[in-house]
Amino acid sequence: MNKVFLSIGTNIGERAANLQEAVRRLMSHPAIEVKVVSSIYETAPVGFVDQASFLNIAVAIETMLLPFEVLEVCQSIENELGRVREFRWGPRIIDLDILLYNHENIEAEHLIIPHPRMYERAFVLVPLVEIASADCAMLGQARLALQAIDREKEGVKQWKTIGTVDEFVHFES
Ligand code: ATP
Ligand code: MG
Ligand code: MG
Repeated sequence: MNKVFLSIGTNIGERAANLQEAVRRLMSHPAIEVKVVSSIYETAPVGFVDQASFLNIAVAIETMLLPFEVLEVCQSIENELGRVREFRWGPRIIDLDILLYNHENIEAEHLIIPHPRMYERAFVLVPLVEIASADCAMLGQARLALQAIDREKEGVKQWKTIGTVDEFVHFES
């Protein structure tokens, strides 16, 4: 079974409901098991700053799908939830990125794993490190990267604590 970590973000509409719907759709995929969902974090936008703040989570899944198939699932969910691509790093209903797929390094035209910008983004690393079990070797580099950008952690605020996957998909948003 392949261990995969995803990052999901949103800054348009009912943001918490968007995250819940994305996780529900991952759960309903026959070849995906959602193992852990992080707390929800709120972050001011980076890059293009004139937009609403984001909610972000990290999700651990197990799957028999290949990396490209996981990307396909992520993009279908983005489309189903109505994501419109206006400009890069602009506002979005939902963004599902693959952070890590086992220990694999992939550099294809449409898929780069580890995600090329993950180690410089506190809004990705804070939720990711939260769900890392102590023995998870896959996340050693994420922990180190988070220490290196320690100051930026301040901009990433816990917005709602989450215990279980079930609790996550069922809370009243
Ligand atoms: P960023 O990649 O900086 O987080 P973004 O998520 O807003 O920006 P998107 O518009 O969602 O960017 O995706 C742009 C392209 O990135 C997609 O078409 C996809 O093929 C490609 N891509 C490359 N590597 C990955 C990855 N690890 N996860 C998701 N998409 C990826
Ligand atoms: Mg992204
Ligand atoms: Mg993306």
